[in-house]
Amino acid sequence: MTRVAEPPPTLAVLLAHPAGHSLSPVMHDAAFAATGIAGRYEAWDVAPAALVAALRRLRDSRTLLGANVTVPHKEAVVPHLDALTPEAERLGAVNTIVRHDDRLLGHNTDAIGLAAALAGLARPPGPGRAVVLGAGGAARAAVAVLLRAGCSVRVHNRTHARAEALATDMRRLGAVAAIGSEALPAAIAEADWLVNTTSVGMRGGPAGSPAPDGVLPTSGTVVDLVYRPRPTPLLAAAAAAGLETQDGVAMLVHQGAASFTAWTGRQAPLAAMIGALERSLSDATA
Ligand code: NAP
Repeated sequence: MTRVAEPPPTLAVLLAHPAGHSLSPVMHDAAFAATGIAGRYEAWDVAPAALVAALRRLRDSRTLLGANVTVPHKEAVVPHLDALTPEAERLGAVNTIVRHDDRLLGHNTDAIGLAAALAGLARPPGPGRAVVLGAGGAARAAVAVLLRAGCSVRVHNRTHARAEALATDMRRLGAVAAIGSEALPAAIAEADWLVNTTSVGMRGGPAGSPAPDGVLPTSGTVVDLVYRPRPTPLLAAAAAAGLETQDGVAMLVHQGAASFTAWTGRQAPLAAMIGALERSLSDATA
């Protein structure tokens, strides 16, 4: 009897540090299963000193489709890739790597994912005032999305110089300025959209709320890119104040869907991905 060799499983990985909190494996394994692709997604905990070795492993592999990249590597991977998509180039950050033979192409699906998520709000961003907390890779995507929607954006970050650099890089897209701690409470109070892109409040990350104590928009919408715990401390306070809120799950799904398509060329099975995430999040131990 002739045995037909099974094709090797294809693999996508997450490069993160820490990596244990991620729901991407649950979401992408569901996507592989729903599309009938013999694939699997693994989270690799890659410390900064091990990043170059992890990228070499990705480049040399024949079964790895590519990777997602998150905290703290989104900007650090850029110089090690062979090419960037125009969006990754514009944002100066990569959240998705696609392997083409031994070449690594950097994509950024965070902005497209956040734009799709925000489109689901009762009051999607448009001309008005937005405040972004944080100035890392996710903040770059958030500022781009808000500027493209016509908002004027103020960016606050623990490390002010990083907020200044982000504002300088993004100014060609619209009205954006970095603000310090003194100006932050008033800016938040009058904001139409407040978007947290810091890791403050994330399970396993810095505890608490990224906004100053008791300070919320008077009547705006509050978005937190963090998706675990549910709700985050910021969103719990915003909901208690009667404000519209959105957590990071919708963005996670949409940026993940765009990554899945970049790796496989297939349309992502959104319903299967959302179902897997919701089941995992509703698990009391999740
Ligand atoms: P990153 O590039 O490492 O940036 C981290 C940001 O958090 C920086 O602005 C940093 O400020 C700030 N921060 C960290 N610890 C802090 C603390 N103790 N107090 C105040 N600020 C602090 O990370 P990233 O890729 O932008 O991701 C940031 C967050 O967004 C993470 O929680 C990530 O899970 C989430 N995210 C979610 C999605 C989604 O699909 N839902 C997508 C992307 C990211 P400094 O500059 O001062 O260090």
